[in-house]
Amino acid sequence: MGRRVIPHVAMRPLWRCRNCGAEWPCQPARLALLMEYRKDRLGLLLYLGGLMVQARDQLAQLNPEHTPDLYDRFLGWARRRDRR
Ligand SMILES: [Zn+2]
Repeated sequence: MGRRVIPHVAMRPLWRCRNCGAEWPCQPARLALLMEYRKDRLGLLLYLGGLMVQARDQLAQLNPEHTPDLYDRFLGWARRRDRR
């Protein structure tokens, strides 16, 4: 019985974290993404933008009445605040 590590990745089409159940990207997922893309912020934003489009489509199919604000959830936190 090995201990299994569940990564903080999105369950589709619900877009909840497989590990902690929070709305993805959860805090650990954001930290991991920031580390992975620490030298490529534009790449991170493009990646998240692509996921946001998928999430919007899938969530809209699940619940057309409710349109969550996915921009802040997927992109707002990743944008650089100290831009010069
Ligand atoms: Zn998580």
